[in-house]
Amino acid sequence: MNIYTIIILAAIVAEFLLSVVANALNLKSLSKELPGEFEDVYDEDTYARSQQYTRENTRFGFIAGTFNLAVLIAFWFAGGFNWLDQWARSFGYGEVITGLIFIGVLVIGRSLLSLPFSIWSTFVIEERYGFNQTDAKTFVSDLLKGLMLSILIGAPLLAGIIAFFVYGGQWAWVWAWLAVTAFSMIMQYVAPTWIMPLFNKFEPLGDGELRQAIEEYAEKVDFPLQGIYVMDGSKRSSKSNAFFTGFGKNKRIALFDTLIEKHTTEELVAVLAHEIGHYKKKHIVKNMVITVLHTGIMFALLSLFLQVPALFDAFFMEQMSVYAGLLFFGLLYSPVESILGIFMQRLSRKHEYEADRYAANTIEKPEEMVNVLKKLSKDNLSNLTPHPFYVFLNYSHPPVLRRIEEIRSAWS
Ligand SMILES: [Zn+2]
Repeated sequence: MNIYTIIILAAIVAEFLLSVVANALNLKSLSKELPGEFEDVYDEDTYARSQQYTRENTRFGFIAGTFNLAVLIAFWFAGGFNWLDQWARSFGYGEVITGLIFIGVLVIGRSLLSLPFSIWSTFVIEERYGFNQTDAKTFVSDLLKGLMLSILIGAPLLAGIIAFFVYGGQWAWVWAWLAVTAFSMIMQYVAPTWIMPLFNKFEPLGDGELRQAIEEYAEKVDFPLQGIYVMDGSKRSSKSNAFFTGFGKNKRIALFDTLIEKHTTEELVAVLAHEIGHYKKKHIVKNMVITVLHTGIMFALLSLFLQVPALFDAFFMEQMSVYAGLLFFGLLYSPVESILGIFMQRLSRKHEYEADRYAANTIEKPEEMVNVLKKLSKDNLSNLTPHPFYVFLNYSHPPVLRRIEEIRSAWS
């Protein structure tokens, strides 16, 4: 058997098994008893529901994951990639267009296969726990807008990358790297103004107590506020959130309407202080630098593997091509990506602590930061007692109890 077949197959199966183990441990660590810290916000009923929600999502994730793995392996060993390649080539276009057809069909196929799962998750699971507010019309229009964006933005980018590797010679990976980096910078800039408004309404936060409190805080910490927006998150879900987008003049803070509805002014300022903390501690820039370096390394490795016939043999291909190489390299690289992902999550958790600490140190009443975390956990039915191994693999934010401990230690 081809060495790449063995490596890739072993890696994806191992990754799947690892996630099964982590999920099993996570379910086992669901504690019957409500952690004392939360006694003032949870009642027994809500706590039981939050555990049920974790159980149900875990089960669902297992079914979806098994299905995806089975489809990939079946398609691969039935010679699906070569069959599709031969079909795409039969139109007689050059490598770039043929590549767009080849990858386009795979992307569409994958989306169609995941569609029933996404419908189930939104309209059955989220609905059952009272989160879902999406109607069929929003769901379908989201799908269509997503498709339109893939065609308008994703396809030209992919065509560009293929073209660099077909025509760019030895330094193609550098060109591809520069192009993708420039592209993602531009996207960060235009996403808040052009793309996000396609999906949600953003309205400037009106005058009043909240706006005044936020402006006072921003002035105190010397943060130039360019825009505070309210986003109609309630269009899709009752879950709440806040986030920061863009940079330069397009920088804006968006608060979900659902967040504003459920929290006091002081708690909302605490949320905002946390977001500003990310900015002040330069987390956004740090992440960007890491991503840019990672992209460069990936393209350099890709350019090496595009020359390896054995990688194409592993997928039973009759002919080599840049576009198929892109996909196979992606599969070969995915375990590396997962390991890097673990480091990135770890870094992200560290950043969350830093942003929390920043918030606790700069707002009037640090206890508000604790309150808001507790209320958010309750409203989103978060798992209060995740297993450490599961956290290690999957959590971009530390478990809420740990965050509370850290915040308390920051001001005591
Ligand atoms: Zn954060």
